Amino acid sequence: MSLTIPIRGGCACSAIRYECSEQPLFTWLCRCQDCRKATGSAVAANVFFTPSAMKFTGSESKSYTTTGLSGQSLHHLFCPNCGSPIGTQADAFPIMRGVRASSLDDPSGLKPMANVWNCSALPWDRLDPDLLQFETQPTEEEFGRIMASLG
Ligand SMILES: [Zn+2]
Ligand SMILES: [Zn+2]
Repeated sequence: MSLTIPIRGGCACSAIRYECSEQPLFTWLCRCQDCRKATGSAVAANVFFTPSAMKFTGSESKSYTTTGLSGQSLHHLFCPNCGSPIGTQADAFPIMRGVRASSLDDPSGLKPMANVWNCSALPWDRLDPDLLQFETQPTEEEFGRIMASLG
């Protein structure tokens, strides 16, 4: 998986822009209720970056907070002007920052590696059988194995 660096993106109205100086850690397709509500879509393509490699410019994002599977807070960031979802930051995983894949200016080079939260997939949704499958999300141990396999 290789995108042109810097990877650029932003919200729909361009009030919020970002640049990333490193390749993403991974991309997955999430069907949790939080993501479905936040994106208004059956599935959310989420791409994860090392937070220190990301630089945001323009407007300050607004956020709201839900409780993740870990019991810790999950912050959902969005543009205060156009309302586009930008991404998430989980208190349980400070080493990565989630970005909504379609906020990238060119998400076409991303390679999703897993379907997560399949337990809340909608009956009319279709899941790619070639990806890793998780009823909820990978455990910390499974997650370690996935990260190792990605090199
Ligand atoms: Zn905006
Ligand atoms: Zn989700």
